[in-house]
Amino acid sequence: VTITDKQSGSSGKVTHKVCPECDLIHEKVDLKSGRAAHCNRCGKLLYRSQPRGLEFALSFAICGLAFFVVANLTPLLIFSMGGNSSANLLVDGGIAFLQTMYWPLGLLVIVASVVAPFAILCLVVLLLLPLRFGYVLPASKFLYRLIMHIRPWAMAEIFVIGLIVAYVKLADFASVSVGLSMISFVCMVVASVIAISSLDADDLWARIDEVSNNGRA
Ligand SMILES: [Zn+2]
Repeated sequence: VTITDKQSGSSGKVTHKVCPECDLIHEKVDLKSGRAAHCNRCGKLLYRSQPRGLEFALSFAICGLAFFVVANLTPLLIFSMGGNSSANLLVDGGIAFLQTMYWPLGLLVIVASVVAPFAILCLVVLLLLPLRFGYVLPASKFLYRLIMHIRPWAMAEIFVIGLIVAYVKLADFASVSVGLSMISFVCMVVASVIAISSLDADDLWARIDEVSNNGRA
């Protein structure tokens, strides 16, 4: 929560930050790059200085989308057994579940590993790319809230662990090789985590205000 008091301060603008843990109000100060501010009372992290955080978020979201495309179009695991070999796509596991009585699980796997990560990356790009070119989308606030709502559904990290377990187990029965998809998928997960953690709400609102004011001037 940021409160802006327009009556005080030398620049006419003093920003306050309320501790999310104990509600103590702190005056926001400019930090050196990479430093973090913590609550005086309970020590909870208040904010971090990420001068180019939004640019970071946008770049990693675009990288994540590129990895997403590769991860979904190339084979995930290639099995060879008795002269036969078969390759699986990322989405095949979920689709296989959909055709059985475990279809809700299949739906969950597809949402958590494909739909939600893709939606988040697209929304981050949609939110930040116009801002980068000096244009504020009227739906910016809605997009940000949507990202935060979808975020808990993107459990691609857990899916990666599941894949590694499956790989180790299957390696006993058949010759299994890892396809390009697996590597791209792991890169996509890492890019998404960096993009989301760089997307700071305070920085975003400040940038939106700055761009809107420039547009009006
Ligand atoms: Zn506190």
